[in-house]
Amino acid sequence: MFMPHEFDQEFLLDSQALLHAVSLMGKVSEGANTASIGDVLPETGMGSVETLNQLAPLVLGHAARLGAPTAFAHKDPPTPWITWATTLWNASLNQNLLHPATAPVARQLEEKVIAWLCPYFGMTGGHMTPGSSAANLTALWAARECAGITEVVASDSAHLSIKKAANILGLRFTMVPTDAQGVLCTEALPRDMSRAALVLTSGTTSVGALDPLELIGRAAWTHVDAAWGGPLRLTCFADRLAGIEHADSVAVSSHKWLFQPKESALVLFRDSVKATEAISFGGAYLTEPNVGLLGSHGATAIPLLAMLMSWGREGVAQRIERCMALADELADFIRRDTRLVLFAEPMTGIVAWRAIEPKVTERLTQQLPAGMISTVAIGQHQWLRNTAANPNADMALMIETIRKVLDAE
Ligand SMILES: *Cc1c(COP(=O)(O)O)cnc(C)c1O
Repeated sequence: MFMPHEFDQEFLLDSQALLHAVSLMGKVSEGANTASIGDVLPETGMGSVETLNQLAPLVLGHAARLGAPTAFAHKDPPTPWITWATTLWNASLNQNLLHPATAPVARQLEEKVIAWLCPYFGMTGGHMTPGSSAANLTALWAARECAGITEVVASDSAHLSIKKAANILGLRFTMVPTDAQGVLCTEALPRDMSRAALVLTSGTTSVGALDPLELIGRAAWTHVDAAWGGPLRLTCFADRLAGIEHADSVAVSSHKWLFQPKESALVLFRDSVKATEAISFGGAYLTEPNVGLLGSHGATAIPLLAMLMSWGREGVAQRIERCMALADELADFIRRDTRLVLFAEPMTGIVAWRAIEPKVTERLTQQLPAGMISTVAIGQHQWLRNTAANPNADMALMIETIRKVLDAE
C-alpha cells in the first residue's frame, strides 16, 4: 500500500521489472481480448508486474506485425530495437522541448539531427513534428505568413492533410488532375500562382508517384510533401527527387521510411530563419520562443539520432534500397503474369496492381494474408497496393502466395 511519507519506488528504476517487460516481448502469445479489461476504472490497482502480464497477450499478442515476412502493405515500417531502447529512455526522462530548462540536451540533439538531414534536401533548418500531416500544416502556415498566399494548389492524389491544412488556414484549395501514372498534370495548373502555394508530392499515397519537381518556383511558395519518398535522398535513388533543394519547404515522415516509432516527422525550410520566425510565439514564461504547432513536446529526435549513429547513412540507404529491390521484384512478377496488370513502374517502392478480372482481384483481396496488401480505388477499378516499408519481407513467399490464389481458379 502506498505510504505518502515514504519515497515512492514506482518512480525509480526497477531493472528487474523492466527486464521482465522486455522478456514478455520475446514470447508473444495471443490471449485475452479487450473484454478482459474491465469497462470501469478499477478502484484498486493490481500492481505493475501483474498489469504487464495481463496486457502482454493483448497488446503484444494482437498487434499488427509490421516486420512479419508478408508485411508489405502499409507505409508503417518495423522499428529497429535501438529506437525501442531510446524511446524507453525518453519515457523515463520525459523532457519537454518547449523549455531549455526541461530539455537542456534534447533540444540540441534535435538541432543536430535536423542539421544532419537538411543538406540532403537543400534546406537550412526546421523542426520535428508528430507526423507529416502536422509538417504539411506547419509548412503551409509558414507559406501564408512569409509569402502571403491565399490558395493551395495540389493534385487530386495529394494527401488529405493538404486539403485539411488549407481548411484550417482559411486558404482556398485548388485541385489539379493527375495523368495515367498518377503524376500531377502540369498543363492543368492555374496560370497565375502568384498568391498560391504549390504542393508537389514525392511519393503519392495511393501509387507512390513523383510530381515533377521542375515546377518548383512557379508559385509564390512551393512545398514538397516527401512524407513517404523523402528518405530516398539518402540512397542511390536520390536523383529521383532531384530539384527538391529549390523548394521553400519539405515534409518527411521519419516514422515511415526512416524506421522510427510514431510520432516522428520533419518539417524543413529553405529559409529557416524567416520561416521559423513567422511561426514563433513567445509567451512570458518562455525563455525561448515557442516554434510551430506544438506546445509541450518530447525528444522524438533521440531515437532518430540513435539509429542514424548506429547505422550511418549507409545503413539507412541499404535498408531502403533493399525495400526498393523487393518492390521491383514484385513488379517484375506482376508484369510477367498475363493475368495481372501493373499500374505503373514503382518509383518509390509502392506497387499498385490488380488482376485483369475484377473477381480475381476480389479473391486476392479476401485470400491474401492480413498485412500483405492494401486496396485503393483509382478510376473505375479497385487496385491492390503494396508498400515496401519492411526490409525483411519475404518476396519469394509472397509471390508464391499470390500465385496459389491465382492458380486456384
Ligand atoms: C503519410 C503521408 C502523409 C501524412 O503523414 P503522417 O505522418 O501520417 O501524418 C502526408 N503525405 C504523404 C504523401 C504521406 O504518405
